[in-house]
Amino acid sequence: MPYGTSGKLPSETASKLGHLAVIQNEWVCSLIEDFEAITTDVPQGDLSVWQEFIADAPPLKYIWAVDGSYIAVKTDPPTGKEVAFIKTALLSIERAKIDCIDKLNPHPLLLQDIMSESALFHATVLPLKNVKTTLGNNYDAVRNIIYESMKIDEGGAYFETLKWIAYEKWNKTKGSSPSFDCPHCETTIEGLPFDASESTCPACGGGIFLTDMIGFHLDMSEDSAPDSVASSYMLIMETLMLFTIVRLLWDHSDSRLFSDTLFIKDGPLTLRGQYSKLVPNIRKFVEYTKEKSRPIHLIGQEKSGIFYEHLMSISKFVNPQRVGDPTSIAVLPHSYVRKEVYRSPDLSNPYGKRTNWGEKIYVKLDPDSSLVLNALVGEYSDNSSFPEVKDIIGLERILSTLPSLISRKYEGALYPVELANGVASMSSYPSAKILERFIEKR
Ligand SMILES: [Zn+2]
Repeated sequence: MPYGTSGKLPSETASKLGHLAVIQNEWVCSLIEDFEAITTDVPQGDLSVWQEFIADAPPLKYIWAVDGSYIAVKTDPPTGKEVAFIKTALLSIERAKIDCIDKLNPHPLLLQDIMSESALFHATVLPLKNVKTTLGNNYDAVRNIIYESMKIDEGGAYFETLKWIAYEKWNKTKGSSPSFDCPHCETTIEGLPFDASESTCPACGGGIFLTDMIGFHLDMSEDSAPDSVASSYMLIMETLMLFTIVRLLWDHSDSRLFSDTLFIKDGPLTLRGQYSKLVPNIRKFVEYTKEKSRPIHLIGQEKSGIFYEHLMSISKFVNPQRVGDPTSIAVLPHSYVRKEVYRSPDLSNPYGKRTNWGEKIYVKLDPDSSLVLNALVGEYSDNSSFPEVKDIIGLERILSTLPSLISRKYEGALYPVELANGVASMSSYPSAKILERFIEKR
């Protein structure tokens, strides 16, 4: 039904396309017929990865969710100066309390009770263009601000988490950090010695920070930094904040807390480009939790992008079709991701090996709630049929917990992420005028 008409207007009695000569062409007619057939009710692609999943494991008791936002601000009238404000928020909630909340019209006092219990946030400002300081150029200003911001906040807890990941502190082997290129002379530095926060480059003698290992400087020139430095900083801080809780619970005297907790990150469990340096170490930690038989329940949720669009195009053909029917899931093997999602079987480059620390899962909880999740498996496997359901860590308890977390405000959204987003969102930034004055003063 391409045209919904009432038929009351005189022109509507005639066909809308009838006057076009091209419509007489049999190829065009056939194309239009097929196009309509495709968009109505013929499922596209391979649905065999889907299966019914009845999760009867006990739901997880504690929830931590992290989200972030950033905004680039220019002066008006334009002076060429530009800074980025970045904010990330981490929230803790007990699932039992979420169950009591009306997710469409939450009572403000109940919400306040939840939020006051534990909401942490981190904020910083990075110069992007033409903001000179007396200490040095834009490039060094960004490097120093990143180092200091991570080091100072929450008494150094987030910075300690960076060390914990960089030096694999869970396994007590006391190795060095991953290698990286010197921000001054580009010589490859074979990692900082165990537990070091800063050092000097053996080749040029310039000062280097552990935060340089992450690779922000590879995105910048001397005078300016692109927006991507702000978005990457946000992503790294989200990861570090969430892993601060992972780290603290891993070492907690009550060892049950760790595996009774669901850790949620907004967005995919991915660090691209030079930022992927932390991926192998995170995978190693997850593998270590398997060795110690202490499952980690950690998910990322993708609310946009290629996987989200792909799921939206197929979810209506998948069960459950009615409220009350069992949940369906699809753990996506790498061959499926290549063929069905990206539609490019590029075999020379194993899917997600360098950049992903989680695997992709589609979940359809009820006819209106379909989610793209990322979940953990530990070390990467080159097998193209990897991963399978059995490879996903803690899948059953994660799926038992999801139904009580579904937002009633946004389709397929998770309520804890919605709350974290509220804390980290743009609206809580100072108004544009105040930001501009902030830039002018510098
Ligand atoms: Zn150097």
